[in-house]
Amino acid sequence: MDGTTANFTPHGKHLIAGEWIATEETFRSEPAHGEAHDFSVGTPALVDRACQAAEDAFWTYGYTTREARAAFLERIADEIEARAEAITQIGTEETGLPTARLQGERGRTTGQLRLFASHIRAGDYLDRRHDEALPDRQPVPRPELFMIQRPIGPVAVFGASNFPLAFSTAGGDTAAALAAGCPVVVKGHGAHPGTGEIVAEAINAAIEACGMPAGVFSLVQGGNRTVGQALVQHPLIKAVGFTGSLGGGRALFDLCAQRPEPIPFFGELGSVNPMFMLPEAIAARGADLGKGWAGSLTMGAGQFCTNPGIAVVIEGPESDAFVEAARAALSESGAQVMLTGGIAAAYSSGAARIGGQAGVKDLLTSMCDRREAKPFLFKVSAADWLGNHALSEEVFGPLGLVVVVQDAAEMAKVARSFDGQLTTTLHMDEGDAALAADLLPILERKAGRILANGFPTGVEVTDTMVHGGPYPASTNFGATSVGTLSIRRFLRPVCYQNLPVGLLPRDLQ
Ligand code: NAP
Repeated sequence: MDGTTANFTPHGKHLIAGEWIATEETFRSEPAHGEAHDFSVGTPALVDRACQAAEDAFWTYGYTTREARAAFLERIADEIEARAEAITQIGTEETGLPTARLQGERGRTTGQLRLFASHIRAGDYLDRRHDEALPDRQPVPRPELFMIQRPIGPVAVFGASNFPLAFSTAGGDTAAALAAGCPVVVKGHGAHPGTGEIVAEAINAAIEACGMPAGVFSLVQGGNRTVGQALVQHPLIKAVGFTGSLGGGRALFDLCAQRPEPIPFFGELGSVNPMFMLPEAIAARGADLGKGWAGSLTMGAGQFCTNPGIAVVIEGPESDAFVEAARAALSESGAQVMLTGGIAAAYSSGAARIGGQAGVKDLLTSMCDRREAKPFLFKVSAADWLGNHALSEEVFGPLGLVVVVQDAAEMAKVARSFDGQLTTTLHMDEGDAALAADLLPILERKAGRILANGFPTGVEVTDTMVHGGPYPASTNFGATSVGTLSIRRFLRPVCYQNLPVGLLPRDLQ
C-alpha cells in the first residue's frame, strides 16, 4: 500500500505497539461514496495489549527530553503531509465532507502538532516553582521545595466522528497527551476507520524515525462497544479524552468514576451555543446577521460542536427582519451529506422532537433523505422555552431555534436558564453596552468562550483558546480540548521537598 498516492486501500488492521494485527471478526465501513472496506473488530484483549505496551513505553517516553518529544510531534506532522492526498481521498469518501474541508483540517492537525512542539520547547507549560530553604526560620526551618508538572501515564483517546483528522487519531487529544509525555491508545471512530488507519501509519512511521518506544501509540478500531468500555476501565489508563454525544460521553464518564481508581474523563459533549441578539445591533444590521447565522448554522452540515443552534431576540419588527433573512438564506441551502447514517437519523428525529414541542412554530421544515440534512428553523416564546428543558438540548445538524423574549429582563432570565455551553455570543453595537454588561456575568458562568459580533464555528488553535465549559458542554470545566492549555489535562503537579538536585526531574535542574 502506498499512502503517498491517492489510491489508498486500507488493510483493516489494528496498530498495537508497532504491529498491525487482524482479528477474526470484521465490520464493513459505510462510506458516503466510494468503496466500502472491511476492518477488524476491536476486542478487550487487544485493548489490554495496547495498554500494557503504553505503560511499558511510559517508563521511557515519560522521561524523554522536551526537544525529543517536540521533534517527534513535528515528524508526525511531516508524515501526515507525506500522505496528504491519500488522507484526503479516504477521508472524503468515508465522511462525505468536501475535499477543501479535509485539506483544511489536515493543515489544522499538522499546525496543531507543530504548535504543541514549539510550546513544550519553550517550557512555560511546566509551571516550575521554587521555594528556597529557610534554615533559620522559627519555630521550624523550611525545607527547599520545587514543583513541576509531570506526565500522568497512558491516556485513552476516542476519535470524534465530526473531525476525522483534527479530533481523531492524531488530533488534539493525541497531540496534547504526546506533548505532555503520555503514551496514547486511540479507539478509532467507526465513521472513518480507513482515515484512522492511514494516520496511524503516519504516527508509526514517526515513532520508527524518531526511535520512540513502539507502545507510545496504538490504534484499536471499534465495531464493538466493549472496546471503549474496556479502554476507560483499564487499570493502566490514567485519563481519557473524548468528543461525542452527551449519552455516550456520560456513560463513559460514569465508568471512569466507578473504577476502583477513578480517573479524569475529559469529555467534550453537547452545546447549543446561544447567541444573544441585542437591540441596537439587530436594528442596524438584522438582515446581515440573519444571513450570517444561516451560513454558520449550515457550515459542515451543522456538525460542529460550536454550531450556534439558538438565537435569543427581543420581540419586534427588527427581530422579525433578522429571522426572515435567516429563514430565506436557510431555505436556499441545499441538502448536505452527514457523517454517518446514524447521525442523519438522529438529526431527523431531533428536528421532529423540537417541532413537536408545545408552543414551537415551524418557520422552515425540510424532508431529509437517508444520509442527508437540510436546515430546519423554529421559533418559540421565552415563556414556552423556559418551561421546557427539551428545547435547550442540542440537535446535531443545521437546525436553528429562535427564542423570542419580551424585554431585556426576560433575556437575562433566558441566559440564566441555559446549561453549560462551549460558547455564547453577543451581537451588539455601542448602544447595547449596558445590556451586554448585565448579561456578561451570567454568560461567564455558562460558557468557556464568549464572543462579540462573530459566529462561534471556527475555533482558533492558540494559547488563549478555551474549548470546554460547564457540564454538559464538557465533563471537566477546568480544561480545554483545543489550544496549548489542553496539554495541562495530561499533567499532574509534583512537589519535591528537600531532594538532592541531582535527583530532580531534568526540567528542574
Ligand atoms: P457517540 O455516539 O457519543 O460515540 C463516540 C465514541 O464513543 C464512539 O467511539 C462510540 O463507540 C463510543 N461510545 C459511545 N457510547 C459508548 C458506550 N456506552 N460504551 C462504549 N463506547 C461508547 O458520538 P458520535 O458517534 O460521534 O455521534 C453520535 C452523536 O454524537 C451525534 O448525533 C451528535 O449528537 C453527537 N456529537 C457531538 C459532538 C460534539 O462536539 N458535541 C461531536 C460529535 C458527535 P461506537 O462507535 O462503537 O458506538
